[in-house]
Amino acid sequence: MNILDIIAKKRDKKELLKEEIDYFIEGYTNGKVTDYQAAALIMAIYLNGMTNAEITNLTLAMAFSGEVLDLSKLGENVVDKHSTGGIGDKITLILMPVIAAMGVPVAKMSGRGLGFTGGTVDKLESIPGYNTQITVDEFIENVEKIGISLMGQTLNLAPADKKIYALRDAINCVENIPLIASSIMSKKIASGANKIVLEVTVGSGAFMKNIDDARKLSETMINIGKLANKETVCILTNMDEPLGYSIGNTLEVIEAAEALQGDIEEDVKQVVLELGSYMIKLAGKGDNIEENKRKMIECIDSGAAYMKFLELVENQGGDVSYINDVSKFENAKYIYPVLSDKNGYVKSIKAEKLGKLSCELGAGRVKKEDVIENNVGLIINKKIGDKVEKEEILGIIHANDENKLKNVIEEFKQCFEICDEFVEKPKVILEIME
Ligand code: URA
Repeated sequence: MNILDIIAKKRDKKELLKEEIDYFIEGYTNGKVTDYQAAALIMAIYLNGMTNAEITNLTLAMAFSGEVLDLSKLGENVVDKHSTGGIGDKITLILMPVIAAMGVPVAKMSGRGLGFTGGTVDKLESIPGYNTQITVDEFIENVEKIGISLMGQTLNLAPADKKIYALRDAINCVENIPLIASSIMSKKIASGANKIVLEVTVGSGAFMKNIDDARKLSETMINIGKLANKETVCILTNMDEPLGYSIGNTLEVIEAAEALQGDIEEDVKQVVLELGSYMIKLAGKGDNIEENKRKMIECIDSGAAYMKFLELVENQGGDVSYINDVSKFENAKYIYPVLSDKNGYVKSIKAEKLGKLSCELGAGRVKKEDVIENNVGLIINKKIGDKVEKEEILGIIHANDENKLKNVIEEFKQCFEICDEFVEKPKVILEIME
């Protein structure tokens, strides 16, 4: 077998055999297959697609390219959660303490942000002292001790996915259903959970721009889950505007801390409750979805969820005084409100563009090596359907660099489309697929 024949086969729209996919993944992980050969094959997959059998074989090969965690110590039903990515997506920070406080064990590994979407690890690291780079043993011990641990992906978890994901980013092949499905499911299989709840985001701020593609992606992941014996539920959510009101690491941690104390934006609340109620169900702790949601609200209202978040931060070395008094976080140097030019209603928001502007300010990475600035980002004061008066604040830019600030002001304003007619608020939860 050789890689040139495998590339040619996919280029000529033929189905790859399991042995050929295994050969590629093993060779690319250990460096025998070069970046340019892998790029050619990934582009051929992007253009010509994959059959279900190929997708499953790719997923399993990537999942087993490194360590596969054994979380069976934590119970029969260990549930994991993943989002296909969004703008202002701080759901993990809020959802996981809530369900942990309700007795569902939470052992979650998260990634860093890349491109226009943010990453939970970067958000956690904006809390002074919080250690995301603990060992797997510490991770499991934490869950046994306090019921929750959130850490960065270990180096050796699905290393093939890490390489292929970075390569896809560099050759503009991220937005592709077989590649996204296998990337996500390989990490979930390697992370050791046996039940998976996936948030599949749809809209201008998501990789899936329309509902049909989101359904196809969900079907593909549910199918992989079945073949890998991991029960999988997909929740399709709207990402036509950012989630909640903040984009940027510290800003999102502050929003999460407020949400856990009951001051929670409606769209964030709906996503947290929907994902959480299915996680509780898959964990075997309640079949009634509406009742699970009610219990989650009680858990937030009683303060138990917030206390669990503080416990998590403290247990991983974070300074909880910043969470208890968020004014301790250092503000960005420039805090600049952007005003509306006219009266009307917000018709649309360019969510992906907002993610990119936030990256330009320094909140995200354009290249893997970029160092991020925790305290920069954007606050969104007006969302789709909101009434706006001329001179009212549309949003606030948090920047450390005057030139970067100047560069984004006009573009930020252009992200809000304002019209004269009344606009309905968009639906947040679009569909559940099981
Ligand atoms: N999230 C992932 O983990 N992988 C993808 O390919 C896209 C989103």
